[in-house]
Amino acid sequence: VGDSADYDREVQSVCPYCGVGCQLSFKIKEDRIVYVDGAGGPANENRLCVKGRFGFDYISHDHRLTKPLIRREGMPKGLNVDPARPLDTFREATWEEALAFAADGMKGRGRQIAGFGSAKCSNEEAYLFQKLIRQGFGHNNVDHCTRLCHASSVTALIENVGSGAVTATFNEIENADVAIVIGANPVENHPVAATYFKQFAKRGGKLIVMDPRGQALKRHATHMLQFLPGADVSMLNAIMHVIVEEGLADRQYIEAMTEDYDAMVAHLKGFTPEKMSALCGIDAQTLRAVARDFAGGKAGMIFWGMGISQHIHGTDNSRCLISLALMCGHIGRPGTGLHPLRGQNNVQGASDAGLVPMFLPDYQSVGDDGVRSAFTQVWNSGDFSGEDGLTVTEILDAVHAGDIRGMYILGENPAMSDPDVEHARDALARLDHLVVQDIFLTETANFADVILPASAWAEKTGTVTNTNRQVQMGRPAVPMPGDAREDWWITTELARRLGLDWPYTHPSEIFSEMKRNMRSLDNITWERLEHENAVTYPVHGPDQPGEAVVFGDAFPRPQGRAKFTPASVIAPDEVPDADYPMILTTGRQLEHWHTGSMTRRSTVLDGVEPEANCSLHPSTLRKLGTAPGGMVRLTTRRGSVELMARADRAVAPDMVFLPFAFVEAAANVLTNPALDPYGKIPEFKFSACKVEAVEVE
Ligand code: SF4
Repeated sequence: VGDSADYDREVQSVCPYCGVGCQLSFKIKEDRIVYVDGAGGPANENRLCVKGRFGFDYISHDHRLTKPLIRREGMPKGLNVDPARPLDTFREATWEEALAFAADGMKGRGRQIAGFGSAKCSNEEAYLFQKLIRQGFGHNNVDHCTRLCHASSVTALIENVGSGAVTATFNEIENADVAIVIGANPVENHPVAATYFKQFAKRGGKLIVMDPRGQALKRHATHMLQFLPGADVSMLNAIMHVIVEEGLADRQYIEAMTEDYDAMVAHLKGFTPEKMSALCGIDAQTLRAVARDFAGGKAGMIFWGMGISQHIHGTDNSRCLISLALMCGHIGRPGTGLHPLRGQNNVQGASDAGLVPMFLPDYQSVGDDGVRSAFTQVWNSGDFSGEDGLTVTEILDAVHAGDIRGMYILGENPAMSDPDVEHARDALARLDHLVVQDIFLTETANFADVILPASAWAEKTGTVTNTNRQVQMGRPAVPMPGDAREDWWITTELARRLGLDWPYTHPSEIFSEMKRNMRSLDNITWERLEHENAVTYPVHGPDQPGEAVVFGDAFPRPQGRAKFTPASVIAPDEVPDADYPMILTTGRQLEHWHTGSMTRRSTVLDGVEPEANCSLHPSTLRKLGTAPGGMVRLTTRRGSVELMARADRAVAPDMVFLPFAFVEAAANVLTNPALDPYGKIPEFKFSACKVEAVEVE
C-alpha cells in the first residue's frame, strides 16, 4: 500500500476473482498497476482480501499471450507445451489469418460445434458468446463453469422459489439474528463476505456452521456441526423434523406463501434426530438445539457453497435448505433469505446472460417458442433449436462419441477443471478444430488449433454481476499487451467471419441489446452504471435503489407461492471400500483461484502458497508412517497424483482435502464424474480414495 505520490492515476473497477464482487481502485504509474486499494462498493465497503489486494500482477506476466497463434503442421496435441516457449508448437499469425482460420474450421458445421463461455468475462461478452452458438450454429450446446459450481442450487431455486439468484444480499446478515453457513468456507473462498459474518457473530447473532471439514469460521460459531461427508439430507431433514414436531414452523407464512407443505410434513415423519444421528454423525440433542435456534430466530439467513452443490444429490441438498427457510418464514423480510455464495466474479451475470444450455437470457426457456421468437426478432435472424443443449460434461462425452467435432472455448480450462480430467483431455485431443481464447496458454490451450489472445479483466470495459445481484461497472486500468484484444471484439469479429451481421463497436451497444429481452436490467442503463458504479436488480425506477431482499409479497411462481420439495437420502456414487478406504474432497485455498492460471502467476499469492499440497489429519499421517511435509500418493479409480501432505485437524481421519489449482498434482485426475440428475453437476466433493506414503530418495 502506498500513497498518492506512488501513482499517477487511479481507476475504479471490480475484483477479478470471487463472486463477492468487491470494488477496488487500481493505482497506476506509467501504465502499470502498482498497487490496489479497496473502494466503496455496496458489497465490500472498502474491504479487500489478499487476492483482491495483491493478486494483480499476473496481467504483466511473461506468459501473457500477445499474438494470435496457429498450431504448426503435425505438432501432436497433449499437455506438452511450455508456456514460456509457445512458438515450438505454434506459429504467430495476424488477426486476419487467425480469425479466418478459426471461422473456417467451424463454418457450416451446425451441431458438430459446441462452446464453453466464461464466468470471468463481462456480461456483454457472455451474452455475445451464447448468441454466437445459438444464432451461428442453430442449437444450444453452450455452457460454462456454473455447471461445475452451483447448477444444482440454481435448479432447486428455480423449481421452488421461481428464480435462480439469491433472495437477499449477504450484507443483509446485518439485520438477521440467526444464520446458517453450510458447505461453504467463506474465510478462504469469500473472505470479504466472511468479515460480515464475523461481525454478525460478534454482535450476538447466532451463527450455525455446518461442514464436514472444520474451518476458521468455527471460532465465531454458536454451533459447529462437523457432519459426515455426503450426509446433508439426513441432517437437514432431521432438523426440519424437529421444527414440525415441536410446532416451531411459521404456519401463517406457510399458508400464505407456499404449497405442498402437507406432503413435506408426511415425508419428514421418519427423519427423527435420534434415527438420523448415526447417519449424519451429529447427536440428536445438537440437531434439536439447531432446529430451535433457527426456527426461533426473528430473522434468519442460509448461506451455502459447493459443499452443498457438488454432489449427486446437490439439488436435493438445496431443496432441503429452501424448505428449511420456507417453513420458518425466513424469506422476504430484512435479515432473511437464501444465499448460495457464487464462486467466480461473473458466474451470476454469465448465467443471467444465457450462457447455459437450457435458458436464454433471464432464464427464459429455450423450449418456449414465444421466447425464441422474441430473441430472433432482436437478433434479426431465423429460429434455432428449442431443445435443451448439452451441459459441460455431456459436451465432452459427445466429443468422445464423435457427435461434436469442433469447439470454441473462451476463458475456461476444462483440461484442469472437469472431473476425471484425463477423459476431458482425451476429448480435447480428439477434436478436429479447437479455438481457444484466453490470456495465457492454459492446459486447455495445449490442445488448441488456434489461440486468440484476449484481455485480462483489468484491461477491459464491461459490466459484471456479483453474488448479491449487483450489476457493476468494470473499467480498463491498463492497455492490453501486444496484439491482445477484448473478448467482445474477438467474438464479434469471429461472428462476422461466420456470416453474421453483428454491428457492435462498444460494449454499451451490446448492453442496450441485452436490455431489450432482459427485464432484470430494467431501470439499469450504461450511463447509470458509469455514474453509480453498481445497481442491484430488480430495480423499480431509474432513481430508485435496487431490492436487497426480494419475494416479500409473492414468488415468481404459479399463484405467487413457493414450493416444498421433499428429498430422500441417497448414498454417494462411490462409497469407500477395502481398496479405496478414504474420502477425497476438493476445493480452493485462500491464495489460489480455480485452475491457478492467474494466481500461480501472481508473485505474492504464489509466493505464499507455492507448492501442491493436500491436507490429512495428524493421526492419519502417523498411521501412514509419514509426517507433515512428507510426500503421499492419492489414488482413485480414475488415476493417481503425488504431492506434499500437510497436517490439518480440520480434516477428519478418514478424509483427504485436495486443492484443485495445481497442475502438477491435478485434483481432477482423481474426481468422480457422476452427475446430479437435475443440475448435471459432478460429485467433486466425494470420491473413494487410497492414500499411501511415498518414499523420497
Ligand atoms: Fe476479490 Fe472476492 Fe477477495 Fe473481494 S473477497 S477481494 S471479490 S477475491
